[in-house]
Amino acid sequence: MTIQEKPPEPHDAPLPQTAGARAEEAGAVLDVDLTALRANYDILCRRALPVDTAAVVKADGYGLGLEPIVQALLKAGCKVFFVADLGEARRARAVAPDADVYVLGGPPPGTGPAFAELRVRPVLSSLIMLAEWDRFVADSGWDGGAALQIDTGINRLGLTIDEAVALTPRIQLQKHGITLVMSHFACAETANHPANDKQIRAFRDLRVLFRGITASLANSSGIFLGDGALCDLVRPGAALYGVNPTPASHNPMRPVVTLRAPVLQVRDLARGDQVGYGATWTAAKASRIAVIGVGYADGYHRFGSSADGKTGAHVLIDGTRCPLAGRISMDLMAIDVTGLPERAVQRGTYVTLIGDKLTVDDVAKTWGTIGYEVLTSLGGRYHRRYYES
Ligand SMILES: *Cc1c(COP(=O)(O)O)cnc(C)c1O
Repeated sequence: MTIQEKPPEPHDAPLPQTAGARAEEAGAVLDVDLTALRANYDILCRRALPVDTAAVVKADGYGLGLEPIVQALLKAGCKVFFVADLGEARRARAVAPDADVYVLGGPPPGTGPAFAELRVRPVLSSLIMLAEWDRFVADSGWDGGAALQIDTGINRLGLTIDEAVALTPRIQLQKHGITLVMSHFACAETANHPANDKQIRAFRDLRVLFRGITASLANSSGIFLGDGALCDLVRPGAALYGVNPTPASHNPMRPVVTLRAPVLQVRDLARGDQVGYGATWTAAKASRIAVIGVGYADGYHRFGSSADGKTGAHVLIDGTRCPLAGRISMDLMAIDVTGLPERAVQRGTYVTLIGDKLTVDDVAKTWGTIGYEVLTSLGGRYHRRYYES
């Protein structure tokens, strides 16, 4: 039996949308389960109720493809989206003509007209940004609104708390132009981190000053920190795509991504033969190696390389865990399949790099990173299928 496992074909749904390379020409197939994505949105909505749930779709929908992700989330009832920059805002607007779209990076100097043309809102994170935006609004008469980001401890983007407090008289004005006040957690994935409570309390004080304006604090993990973090709107990203928002315990989210690659070649090695650049892996006994057409140029990080079969990444073949052998190359990697029967691994056998029992968080650990980076690294050369399960 050769294992030609193919992802489930959709039943009563339209044919899957595809993107990227052609199926028969690609080194690997990336499947995105839009049903699971929407189920994850529902799980987060339920947890956040009665508070509204937006979706963060920056970085090309966390690497999964901005357009199909936005379309699926619209179907799930999402009405507010956050993107990183104007380019992403343009793409989101093209598929979501009526949604609220916020641009987290704010407006680069001189881009006010583009925001107005797209009817999207900047997230203003400094007094300089606010002043530039105010000037554009005064000159153009554009009244589409903007978010104000206030830093409560991550020290990334945002007005200082003192700067925000000094702005409160402006909020008393009729046309203050602020549609959202937001802040961002630094340590939400560590539930008992003392920074969380500090940020929740600081933001609560700010909400009192900015009464009447929608307030948002929680990212994915923040939604699991209790009611104090929820405010009026939550902003999950990673959890929508299956990353565990509560790393210390069971993942409440459904997996969304599967990545599979067909074996290009199987080779037999004698004891002492070595594999890959730098000859870092040596066969301790007669071994079999399967080679697939995925490498670091596909965003499969070289940090996953394995010199000893214990550290480094692994893949699944018919549910069996198989370690990588040697360094990951640009377009290829080798897998030690010595433990599997010969008939189980042949040219064309599909290897699972992400999926089944191998989660994005598992892969991240073997690379020394987080699930977010596994997703946003997903390569542009894969054949991509978006399907309903
Ligand atoms: C990326 C981001 C989010 C989403 O964070 P996740 O941890 O992916 O849920 C929310 N808010 C801001 C400001 C962000 O930059």
